Amino acid sequence: MSDLVEIRDLHISYETARGIVYALDGVDLTVYPSQILGIVGESGSGKSTLGMAIGRLLPSNSHRTSGDLFVNGQSIFDIGDEEIRLLRQESLGFVFQNPISTLDPTMRVGRQIRLVLNGPASDDSVYELLGRVGLPDVKRVARSYPYQLSGGMAQRVVIAMAISRHPSLLIADEPTASLDASVREQILKLLLSVREETGVAIVLLSHELGLVAKYCDTIAVMYGGRLVETGSNVSVFRRPGHPYTKALLEAAPGNERPGDWLEAIPGVPPVLQSSAQGCVFEPRCKFAHETCRTVRPVLRPIENRMVACHRAEEVLKIEPTAAAT
Ligand code: ATP
Ligand code: MG
Repeated sequence: MSDLVEIRDLHISYETARGIVYALDGVDLTVYPSQILGIVGESGSGKSTLGMAIGRLLPSNSHRTSGDLFVNGQSIFDIGDEEIRLLRQESLGFVFQNPISTLDPTMRVGRQIRLVLNGPASDDSVYELLGRVGLPDVKRVARSYPYQLSGGMAQRVVIAMAISRHPSLLIADEPTASLDASVREQILKLLLSVREETGVAIVLLSHELGLVAKYCDTIAVMYGGRLVETGSNVSVFRRPGHPYTKALLEAAPGNERPGDWLEAIPGVPPVLQSSAQGCVFEPRCKFAHETCRTVRPVLRPIENRMVACHRAEEVLKIEPTAAAT
């Protein structure tokens, strides 16, 4: 399988009034065609930075200090503004947290869709696109202004726009976080059916373990600007190899309290103002020993997944918890 996105040892930092923030601290990751990759991690772990980096959409106070990121074999840092614009237009689609603010409030939905279709688009092609994302009464939706739509409908419109040019990758950054619980599943099911229909790959960035576990075939767990574990949904969530993944699952019994699970892990997430010499999870880790403080663990293959942990063998020896689904 050829790679759609290949990220190699990527370091991205932000310059802030309070100093440098190391948002991505050496990330290696591959996205394959038609894959649904869930990137999970708590707030500030670097998920959005990673998602934005794929489209070279990072703000001007960000710097790539080292590493590279390839889309369709092309380094996105090597190409000019026009080429990156074309790449975004032809190959990438973005779905963000708040659909109403993604849409232009002053323009009717139909007109916004015509603009992204780029060229003379008939009413029928607009209606067809709105129908594909499961919107009822497409003529009325096309005539509406964004504020006249519910959050779920607006997110369907955003997804319609994101898939209108047949991208090979959709980057969905917390696409359901602003929506009612009842609508969340519908939006994820829609993304799944779009994948079925078109073969588009999806990178789903989310702090909600339950959603990622339910909908993604491949998982990447982020902590403190680093990837700590990646692999298939089954290997990573049935039998985690990283203490952080394990702690996430233990803190989420049946995911009854979505959103609360992270607080249940003792300690606090790292402040990303220095690049940790050893393991970034070491201060909170019950498996940590001396090496973890001083030697950075790199992602290494072990039992069908990649884990960045010196103690992964011991972690894997422990029986899976009942919470692991
Ligand atoms: P969340 O779940 O809250 O969306 P995240 O995992 O998406 O978090 P990022 O938004 O990528 O995390 O942030 C990673 C780190 O970079 C955080 O420490 C954050 O404060 C910092 N950061 C993000 N964007 C900027 C910015 N534009 N300027 C300065 N620092 C930033
Ligand atoms: Mg984010």
